[in-house]
Amino acid sequence: MNKLIIEARINEYAGRGQNPHVPWSPEEIAEAATQCREAGAAIVHFHARAEDGSPEHDVAVYADIIRRIKTESDILIHPTLGAFANDGDAAQRIQPILDLAKDPQTRPHFAPLDMGTTNIDAYNPAAKAFRSDEAVYMNTTKTLLHFAEQLKATEVRPYASLWNVGFTRQFLAFIDMGAIAEPAFACLIMTGDDLPAAHPGTEQGLGAHTMFIPKDRNIHWTAMNHGGDLLALVPKIIDEGGHVSIGLGDWNYIDAIDGASTPTNAEVVGRVSELSRLAGREVATPTEAAEILGVEI
Ligand code: ZN
Repeated sequence: MNKLIIEARINEYAGRGQNPHVPWSPEEIAEAATQCREAGAAIVHFHARAEDGSPEHDVAVYADIIRRIKTESDILIHPTLGAFANDGDAAQRIQPILDLAKDPQTRPHFAPLDMGTTNIDAYNPAAKAFRSDEAVYMNTTKTLLHFAEQLKATEVRPYASLWNVGFTRQFLAFIDMGAIAEPAFACLIMTGDDLPAAHPGTEQGLGAHTMFIPKDRNIHWTAMNHGGDLLALVPKIIDEGGHVSIGLGDWNYIDAIDGASTPTNAEVVGRVSELSRLAGREVATPTEAAEILGVEI
């Protein structure tokens, strides 16, 4: 079986109330990336954050973070796209990635393409109410085709985020028409009870995703659980030849790791590496992951 690629999803927009080890500043993000690399991660996914933890959209901050990460390690880099300009037009939304790609010191290895539009209103099961009721993550087909086309002129590879099977079908159509080249990389999104937009983080939720990934295509999939504990599913993902995207951006992992009541991102990644070795599957270095996924280092 191919080696396991671990992606560290280190911060998203997570707070520090439950686990203080969520990195926010460029220094903290670069340090977490380096530690995750040492623990077995081949890819780091991050969102730039302001001093108070709020979303930071300045492309100069992204450039600073990527420079720092590249100085410290060889981990592959996957910044967010959604943060830049969800409300902007397609050209505006991809431009920061294209700007970062011009300089080898700031060039990311992946840019996310969420292959459809979805409601992203959080649900509060305790209050039996939604926290918002008009939050839409808008990704029209025209926008996604523009992203895919623009990325082709760079060495940044598309990273397809699949919230449900409709997104998977859109992704396969993009491959079919040549808008996304193989080997293609897709993240199967699962979410906790507070975000009903994707598949649930259960064996059934994962299985309903994987049954629609064709085996006769050169497609590699990874799985994540935003708002839920992914560790229980990791042995199944390892066994099925998938890859793992995990970190404090998605879940606090309080008391989930022996000897660490509030684990760091690296400790969570280390646990996944350990589970993989126990299952007899080796963990890929960034260089090996780049080879599997057709990424230019
Ligand atoms: Zn993200």
